[in-house]
Amino acid sequence: MFAQRLAPAIRPRTASQLPALRCVNQSRTLLTKSISSTPALVRNSRNDLKQGSISTLSSGPSRYRQFHVTSLLNEGATDSINQKTMVAFRYYPGETTAVRETLPIPTPKPDEVVIKILAGGVCHSDLGILDPSGSIGEWHNPFTLGHEGAGIITSLGSNVSKTYPNLKEGTYVGVLGPDPCFEPSCNMCSQGKDNLCTTTDEWYGIGRDGAWAEYCAVRAICCIPVPGTPETVPPEVVAVATDAVLTPYHALKTCDKLTAGQTIVVVGAGGLGHNAIQIAKNVLGAGTVVAVDPRETSLVGAKEAGADYGVSPDDLSSLIKEKKLTVDLVVDFVGTQTSFDTALGAVKPAGTIHIVGLMAPFVKLPLMQAVLKDLTVKTSFWGCKTELAEVLDAVAKGKITPQVETKPLEQCLEVLKEFHEGKVKGRIALVP
Ligand SMILES: [Zn+2]
Ligand SMILES: [Zn+2]
Repeated sequence: MFAQRLAPAIRPRTASQLPALRCVNQSRTLLTKSISSTPALVRNSRNDLKQGSISTLSSGPSRYRQFHVTSLLNEGATDSINQKTMVAFRYYPGETTAVRETLPIPTPKPDEVVIKILAGGVCHSDLGILDPSGSIGEWHNPFTLGHEGAGIITSLGSNVSKTYPNLKEGTYVGVLGPDPCFEPSCNMCSQGKDNLCTTTDEWYGIGRDGAWAEYCAVRAICCIPVPGTPETVPPEVVAVATDAVLTPYHALKTCDKLTAGQTIVVVGAGGLGHNAIQIAKNVLGAGTVVAVDPRETSLVGAKEAGADYGVSPDDLSSLIKEKKLTVDLVVDFVGTQTSFDTALGAVKPAGTIHIVGLMAPFVKLPLMQAVLKDLTVKTSFWGCKTELAEVLDAVAKGKITPQVETKPLEQCLEVLKEFHEGKVKGRIALVP
């Protein structure tokens, strides 16, 4: 077996320990050691590579291209390697797009399972993660992107059957991206606010390996069984439900405590807004839902999703007057000064504005206008484990139908480019 060929000192232990190497092609297989002494498995078409030589790959991030070849594997090793490797699209510090790599398929730690990924959602936050200005954060180590994962469990860590008997090989799951600790000693997790767990700052696909790969190792506690099969609840729907549905669900249900009969204005009727309309109408029983978006196509979709009214931002105040609406809650899925001002003008005295969108780094709050309304301004982050189970149940029952398109995982870089160019209107999930 391939693993037995590797000297222990240079044996790669986990995918995240490998440097950024890309397969040039598969005609030769080499075991190499990078200049920085980090071990790696690569394949290279160059025939002049010799043990002990310094080599340069023709692609990949420039600072990872040079390698010190420590040993050559014979051609017969290629097949066994093929069985153990997978394609992944990864974050590298300073890179502005994902890097395609071939990595070993992960093996589960005692409390983990390995999931064969059926779909990994692409989120606008991924553009922020890949923004070299660090608008979302900066990480020193590479990791596989994709914080919206769905798939089938293919192997269990040694402790999983005892602690999570509902998880078996073949169980269809969605992944709870925030990866909370769930320890009783955790101030947030012990209150059921596991989305705010302060013991970790790495989430699946954001700091640690996520779902833009063929396989992903996930802690069993973060796997939520889907009440259905991939045929009845498609993987791309489950994937986007873990974020694009969970985030507005947490905002509306838990933070805003939206109750039956209330009037809500949804600013921004794209992916999350579209789901929020369905959550408000079909799950929480909102009385009146108004969708606000300058895009006519989004307003058509909003009405199909259950919105009572759909208007452009300029027409919102006249609609409120004409229909005599009292707006209890405005949820802003855009997050710019313009969208915030729209919300401020619409909300009733003693009402609430909830900002979910993050398109601008700041918004200005006109204090007098806010004070005169006894205004509450809220924000929220992602969602909790119990909420994800509720979301998957609502999705399986057809109460929420997220709009999502699929693309092959191998088209990841093209999809990211289209996102950058503003050509993607809805949600996309990558399918390995
Ligand atoms: Zn996201
Ligand atoms: Zn915690």
